Amino acid sequence: MGSTSSRQQVAEAENATFFTKEELNKLKADFETGGVEKVTSLIERKLSELDKTELNIAVTGETGAGKSTFINAMRGLQNSDDGAARVDTKEATMEPAGFPHPSLSNVYYWDLPGIGTTNFPADKYLKQMKFKKYNFFIIISSCRFRENDAKLAKEIKRLGKKFYFVRSKIDADFDSMRKAGKEINVKKELEYIRNDCLVNLRKAGILTESVFLISSFEHEKYDFKGLNKALEDEMPIIMKSIFVLAYPNRSVEIIQKKKNILQKRIWMLATLSGSVGAVPVPGLSFACDIVILIGAIIHFRKCLCLDEASLQRLANITNKPVEELKAVVKTPLLGEINKDTIVRLGWRITVVVISAVEFALNFVPVIGSIFGAGSSFLMIYTILNDALKDLTEDAERVMKFAFGIS
Ligand code: GDP
Repeated sequence: MGSTSSRQQVAEAENATFFTKEELNKLKADFETGGVEKVTSLIERKLSELDKTELNIAVTGETGAGKSTFINAMRGLQNSDDGAARVDTKEATMEPAGFPHPSLSNVYYWDLPGIGTTNFPADKYLKQMKFKKYNFFIIISSCRFRENDAKLAKEIKRLGKKFYFVRSKIDADFDSMRKAGKEINVKKELEYIRNDCLVNLRKAGILTESVFLISSFEHEKYDFKGLNKALEDEMPIIMKSIFVLAYPNRSVEIIQKKKNILQKRIWMLATLSGSVGAVPVPGLSFACDIVILIGAIIHFRKCLCLDEASLQRLANITNKPVEELKAVVKTPLLGEINKDTIVRLGWRITVVVISAVEFALNFVPVIGSIFGAGSSFLMIYTILNDALKDLTEDAERVMKFAFGIS
């Protein structure tokens, strides 16, 4: 087998599950020798890795460059929301300031003072800023990038980390042009600004092709989406899924990506439950299933921005009463989730058994054989798939209604 096709296989395996090809092979071998019980430790480890892996994103640039506003935008917050980074505060601190994601506690954005406001050379600066903990750096400027920015980028690269240049406040550039009565060709102006940034970076010794031109107030325009795609594409699989889940719902595409990621979690939860089902203690399996189901549905709601706090933030951003957003929701899963809700969900199981089997056989090589492990697997699998489908559809409805997308 050629290396391209085996690479492709690994990519496909990672795409279909969170596991690498080696891990999938081990799952299969473990299952063959020790049954479901033997595979659970690997699955448990992977789930805990997913929940515990931290994503730390550093944002650096001079005071006023737009760091706080960008950090808020990436977390779906307005500058006035609770937990938002404070905008227009001028005190220069030498300490990185951390801002957690409002619903995913393992995702942090860090506001680092611009290197120009410190007296450190790039290497000392990065040490002082505890560079090791960041997964990557965003260097942001609202005007030209300077020599300091380039030096910093070189040092970040030397230390084996990634950096991205972001030119902020593009909307303000266009506003100024409009006010000056200039006739605007958006594409040409963007090209001009981009070239100007690249030329400056080249002069300072950075040969990069990509500078992302963004407005933190207009996510749909310019390079905001492109930046997120670039960040996502270059992350390892676990980070990528955390990053996507942390992203605010702004398009059908992002909601679908979230659904695909959450779907992978379902078979892992179902397998764990299947193994409990094999333990002959009456009642234990059902109790475990309920806990798994409630936990998963609450997690789905958070990731799909359907929890109370996320809906309120969306209402603030779009100036719509939160009750109007809730009114387009069809699923009962937004209310309190308890044993009764779960039992009510259970009745649909037989209807979807066939599609669940197809899904499992197609996408997860190991699962086809685990399927016989007990009805717990099937119950968790189908209930969560149903719940995820309903929640995803609602997330889309809410997003479209909030932003007036038909
Ligand atoms: P920081 O000091 O780098 O954290 O910058 P801030 O986020 O506090 O922003 C400084 C000022 O720039 C604030 O008045 C923001 O409202 C404004 N600002 C930030 N980003 C944008 C943007 O994308 N477009 C526009 N028009 N203004 C922005």
